[in-house]
Amino acid sequence: MRKPAATPRIGKASAVQAAGQCVCGAVRFEIDVPAVWAWHDHSAASRRAHGSAYVTYVGSWRSRFRLLEGEGSISRFEDAEAGTTRSFCSRCGTPLFYERRRAPKMVNIPRPLFSGRTGREPRYHLALGEAPDWAYLGEPLAPLKGYPGVMWERPRRKKSRETGGLV
Ligand SMILES: [Zn+2]
Repeated sequence: MRKPAATPRIGKASAVQAAGQCVCGAVRFEIDVPAVWAWHDHSAASRRAHGSAYVTYVGSWRSRFRLLEGEGSISRFEDAEAGTTRSFCSRCGTPLFYERRRAPKMVNIPRPLFSGRTGREPRYHLALGEAPDWAYLGEPLAPLKGYPGVMWERPRRKKSRETGGLV
């Protein structure tokens, strides 16, 4: 949509940044690349917060994260019991930053918000035990006859159903 703004290199900023934004573009940010790590979060809390089967996050040091635009458009929800703070764009609703009290130097950002590479592949899975049984986990798919572009998971045979679902 629009090119990331050129950012002056100040202090310890690395030469490469990954830029991201919410759906409406009111909130824009960047991190220095590479990020610390990336993972798939299957927890019920993240699932609800995003309205999706699971969330893929990129974790960045807070010192390597910069909010470029939209401070006033960010709403925050603090879950005191869980020790987490989730923010989202108050204009378009995009989930933004996920901060955890137990890791105060980190800010976790949904991977889809970045338009380019972040320097880390999501190779880790957290809270897989909380994954819902309806989540797609790579089961074989076949084209659905009469519906171009639609793939579906064929019903399992009785034999495989007996062995149970996931985990
Ligand atoms: Zn927005």
